[in-house]
Amino acid sequence: MPDKSVTKTATCLCGSVSFTTTGIDKGTVICHCSNCQRYSGSPFMHNTRLVNSETTFQKGQDVIKKYEDRDTKNGNLLERWFCSNCGSPMMFKSPTGSAGFIGLQSGTLQEREKPFRELYGENKHAWLGDLVGKAKL
Ligand SMILES: [Zn+2]
Ligand SMILES: [Zn+2]
Repeated sequence: MPDKSVTKTATCLCGSVSFTTTGIDKGTVICHCSNCQRYSGSPFMHNTRLVNSETTFQKGQDVIKKYEDRDTKNGNLLERWFCSNCGSPMMFKSPTGSAGFIGLQSGTLQEREKPFRELYGENKHAWLGDLVGKAKL
């Protein structure tokens, strides 16, 4: 994937939090890991990933809470940022992983993102079909 700079705009359910993130596009993925399932309350999470990212809050930086997820599949600490008012998962960051790596929860974005890959397919719910148009897990 060529390095392409993109800008994404996120808003939570209650509208308290809104921010814009610019960074190098690392693609959008479906994550089937059990932590993402629990955190989202859904069978999978849909995450848009950027590196070398910079986030500017339009509002609600003080409303964001961070959960430190230390029990991740790859062992990297993940800070999971969510709106403390409505509970919307907004982004995760890995302070110990690649520089400026973040994942934006695609359901909060203005932009409609198509995933190119599924992660942790061994934990995928059996009733789900092929979500990315090719069997690449
Ligand atoms: Zn909210
Ligand atoms: Zn996950």
